[in-house]
Amino acid sequence: MNVILSRRSAGIHPSASIAAKALVTTLREQGRDIVDLTLGEPDLDTPAPVLDAAMRAMRDGDTHYTASNGTPALRAAVCEKLFRDNALSYRPSQVVIGCGAKQLIHTAFAATLDEGDEVIVPAPYWVSYPEMAALAGGVPVVVACSEANGFKLTPEDLEEAITPRTRWLVLNSPNNPTGAVYSAAELVALIAVLRRHTHVWLMTDEIYEHLVYDGVRAASAAALDEEICARCLTVNGVSKAYAMTGWRVGYAAGPADLIAAITKLVAQSTTCTSSVSQAAAAAALTGDQSFVRDAAALYGSRRDRMMECLAGIEGFGCRKPQGAFYLFPSVAGLIGRRRADGRVIASDQDIEHYLIEAAGVVGLAGSAYGLSPYLRLSFATSLETIECGCERIAAACAALSPATGPVS
Ligand code: PLP
Repeated sequence: MNVILSRRSAGIHPSASIAAKALVTTLREQGRDIVDLTLGEPDLDTPAPVLDAAMRAMRDGDTHYTASNGTPALRAAVCEKLFRDNALSYRPSQVVIGCGAKQLIHTAFAATLDEGDEVIVPAPYWVSYPEMAALAGGVPVVVACSEANGFKLTPEDLEEAITPRTRWLVLNSPNNPTGAVYSAAELVALIAVLRRHTHVWLMTDEIYEHLVYDGVRAASAAALDEEICARCLTVNGVSKAYAMTGWRVGYAAGPADLIAAITKLVAQSTTCTSSVSQAAAAAALTGDQSFVRDAAALYGSRRDRMMECLAGIEGFGCRKPQGAFYLFPSVAGLIGRRRADGRVIASDQDIEHYLIEAAGVVGLAGSAYGLSPYLRLSFATSLETIECGCERIAAACAALSPATGPVS
């Protein structure tokens, strides 16, 4: 008997990054020596003061359901953080806490999209945006952002993508997978377009905000323009900044009516995220921030090392990312080359599979992120892993025969 599946759920693709994590586990269980360059989370441990706060919360009996919009202490901590780091003034009633930024993005779409409403998603994009929009009945409108333009959305392309059905523009800066960071001036130029289309709301995913390099700062769009602030949902969380992916705490700030609508859906789905995790997140946001600075410096040095290692590999072309913890090299130079078994490399997915088979290195094809031919390689891992992975990639690429003609 066939399982009963809704059209919506049947049409959703599995998350490529979560599937890759599972693949790494399976290959290792089979005894393969695998270098994992798919990691979408810090390899660091959650800071000790945050662990202490969680333990205190448990011992103090902080083990019950909380309010669905989050504990007053955490919402106050989020307001303090948004003021301190982002020059944003929100009241606690304008903040909702969720099981990660992911739940809040999903819930925001569920709360605002009707069948056929459009969500503009600049590509390359985090794998979940189009799927979450579709899951809520929306239609993702993917706008390709070229490498020549730093993988960023231009005001002209935004203008062209807007229709009467557009509900949201989703902006992710620093970006997963490219590491692109929008400057304040670039955001202002996009905001100028949005000001002309008052039916379009802006969702900014700022989860990699602190992981920026070379003195770059990630600006918050809502802080740049009062009119846009009134139709902007700023999404963030503690996962990437404080190495707290498993604690499942994210937050969103925006107009109180929208926050109330999201809260209603949280109340009818998860009730709230873990009370202990919320106590931990409040400690992370209000405590000593040196962990975040040290982590960014560490990722910056790993980025530089991975750039050096890839620079020598023929067929790879990589621009230096300003944020997040991924390189997104073009692999156009490998297309058309022939493997030792005679098969021709025709796509970035072929390269992903070839590197797993020939080198035991797992990265992710750009096609999963809406732009080809690229690979996403994570540097949220040790220098040894980065160096070993790049050496293996270099050897596997050197073993390919040169392209002989157009790919059939
Ligand atoms: N947004 C982006 C761009 C991400 O890359 C991720 C995780 O990979 C998330 C959101 C999810 O974050 P959280 O752990 O807070 O759900």
